[in-house]
Amino acid sequence: MSEVLVYYNGDYVPKSEATTSVYDHGFLYGDGVFEGIRAYNGRVFKLKEHVDRLFDSAKAIAMEIPLSREEMSQAILETLRKNNLSDAYIRPIVSRGVGDLGLDPRKCKTPNIFIITQEWGAMYGDLYEVGLKAVMVATRRNAPDALSPNIKSLNYLNNILAKIEANAKGGDEAIFLDSNGYICEGSGDNIFIIKNGKVYTPPTISNLKGITRATAIELLVERGYEVLEVNVGFFDLFTADEVFVTGTAAEAAPITKVDGRLIGDGKPGPITGEMVKAFEEITGTTGTAIYE
Ligand code: PMP
Repeated sequence: MSEVLVYYNGDYVPKSEATTSVYDHGFLYGDGVFEGIRAYNGRVFKLKEHVDRLFDSAKAIAMEIPLSREEMSQAILETLRKNNLSDAYIRPIVSRGVGDLGLDPRKCKTPNIFIITQEWGAMYGDLYEVGLKAVMVATRRNAPDALSPNIKSLNYLNNILAKIEANAKGGDEAIFLDSNGYICEGSGDNIFIIKNGKVYTPPTISNLKGITRATAIELLVERGYEVLEVNVGFFDLFTADEVFVTGTAAEAAPITKVDGRLIGDGKPGPITGEMVKAFEEITGTTGTAIYE
């Protein structure tokens, strides 16, 4: 089988050749941005939204991507075509580029753009039926006035520290609190809490403005549920009837245990079940066609 091809600054190169310098500030400092996108059934789900967020993240770190949004979208589609992929995970990365050992991004002449694609199925497998065990972690989410969690930057160390803690505590996913003690999100997904038929989710100040989160809200509202974007705390989480997380990788995934306590009766609830099913439908039937 021929080697996977990676988009690298306008070329499609074998993955072994998609390498950058150790002086790239993406490597030295996590200075850059990325996206995580999925393709299902020959269609890229929410391509425009992901490309827009990539450009917004770049703008927030004062980095100009040397491609238009349309060119970026076409490069993503072409990378999938070059690799004959229909069900895939897509990872566009834009690093600040090669500079010197100092922090100053003005030394980096031009950003490096990579698009990595790989075949990909469900993230959590049968955990959709049993639910995930989550743990609340001591590591606080980056404060919005320090490094805004709205920026999907290459600096994911905060999330990695949360994951390390969750792993050590035997959890499938970490739940972050912000510095005020409100629940923000998981290490790689947004969170929803259901109580008495109403749905609560934290506002997008201290978390990533998840594209799956926005889709979940639309799907819930379409189905007649009231969705409240409000701060939620421990009490709301421990006394919830249902909890689920959303993300490109996780889609909608039930959380049935938090810190060893059962959520509801410890089984994925009916609204969560509706969401898991709704995602299966929407991801399989909508999106930008790769092959046309
Ligand atoms: N929060 C974090 C920290 C994430 O990394 C992700 C995954 N991109 C999400 C939330 C979910 O965002 P989306 O639904 O856009 O994938």
